[in-house]
Amino acid sequence: MTHAYAALAADTPLAPHSITRRAVGPTDVAIEILFCGVCHSDLHTARGEWGGTKWPCVPGHEIVGRVNAIGADVTGHAVGSMVGVGCLVDSCRECHACEDNLEQYCDTGATWTYNSVDKHLGGVTFGGYSTDVVVDQAFVLRIPESLDPAGAAPLLCAGVTTFSPLRHWNVGTGSRVGVVGLGGLGHMAVKLAHAMSAEVTLFTTSPGKEADARRLGADHVVVTQRGATTAPVTPSLDLIINTVSVPHSLDPYLGALDREGVMVMVGVPPEPHQSPSMMALITRRRSLAGSLIGGIAETQEMLDFCAEHGIVSDIEVIPMHAINEAYERMLKSDVKYRFVIDMATLRYATSGQGAA
Ligand SMILES: [Zn+2]
Ligand SMILES: [Zn+2]
Repeated sequence: MTHAYAALAADTPLAPHSITRRAVGPTDVAIEILFCGVCHSDLHTARGEWGGTKWPCVPGHEIVGRVNAIGADVTGHAVGSMVGVGCLVDSCRECHACEDNLEQYCDTGATWTYNSVDKHLGGVTFGGYSTDVVVDQAFVLRIPESLDPAGAAPLLCAGVTTFSPLRHWNVGTGSRVGVVGLGGLGHMAVKLAHAMSAEVTLFTTSPGKEADARRLGADHVVVTQRGATTAPVTPSLDLIINTVSVPHSLDPYLGALDREGVMVMVGVPPEPHQSPSMMALITRRRSLAGSLIGGIAETQEMLDFCAEHGIVSDIEVIPMHAINEAYERMLKSDVKYRFVIDMATLRYATSGQGAA
């Protein structure tokens, strides 16, 4: 039996719950979870805001822990090593997307870490708000030992979600990159783009975030007005990573792109954005694109890149029982920049050594 925290319905707070993990199969890795990051997707899913949630729902897809058992056919992961699990725990492994190491775009639908059909046990998959998990070796990442394990947890979703488009659109020395929003995703986009030697412009509606943005690696900080309709800078950027998931006009940011520039959306607003102006796209042959996390190989590449550049997420570590309060603070953007649950607090609480 595995201790977890679950939402039992859309309108109830998360509470202690027991789940069952499958027995360790030949290609499986069993992981004792040490830390789990808290992503906006967790809250949206737990509260049923995207539809399709099956309760009880155990969220969490920024998992870091130690291997405590491996199946007979496992290579590349040993008992005791530090590993991670992100948003994916399986895929069909034979479609074009999977062949291209882009399991997140699997044609038949990847198996997500939580609230996905569980091929082994039936029901749905349960995520990282729990003391342990069993995952096929092909979806287990190596966490470089030089990275702080708590700070590394958000790399598994927030990190790769921003790393993937930066890589796909070939960001490097001389690239002019804009980042819209300085939250969990935005602060990673700034750090990663800076480490790739790009010139980084951060757009924020919060004047109070300017100093922090510069500390994280932004070369320029532009404070934009909520509801603005004109471009905040002259058309000068090659790529914009837009991390804001509340509906807003995209035109000012499209207007900040140079000829052939691309704005990549990585957030899903609960209500659609207003359609962008076709003029903003046509006049400089600009593109509006989307991007979803990253494949397993790319996630490993991102972790190794972060180790090389000494990058982790800026985090606030919380005990498991503080999760409901953390959700309310996350909704107010009152976190710098990601909550990470110390899973020892769940382990001790449920074994009677602490208060839940
Ligand atoms: Zn996430
Ligand atoms: Zn596939």
